[in-house]
Amino acid sequence: MGDLYRADMGLMEIIALLFYRKKCPNCKSKLRHINNMMFKKRGSTVINSVNHYGDIYSVKFSYRCDKYDKEIQLLDLTKSK
Ligand SMILES: [Zn+2]
Repeated sequence: MGDLYRADMGLMEIIALLFYRKKCPNCKSKLRHINNMMFKKRGSTVINSVNHYGDIYSVKFSYRCDKYDKEIQLLDLTKSK
């Protein structure tokens, strides 16, 4: 029993996380990493084929451009030129 964190990411998001520079698509300045945690539910979930029970949070990787105070999603990184 404990808090569970799950990263809900699609393939493109994982690729963006691993291979793309964390730079603002708009102004090219360095992005600050922020963690967004969203409470989803209390219940059981399967992580690495082990069943866990507890509070489930969904973790989202996002970034923030301090210049324009704008939140940048991982997928936005793949759209930069
Ligand atoms: Zn920017």
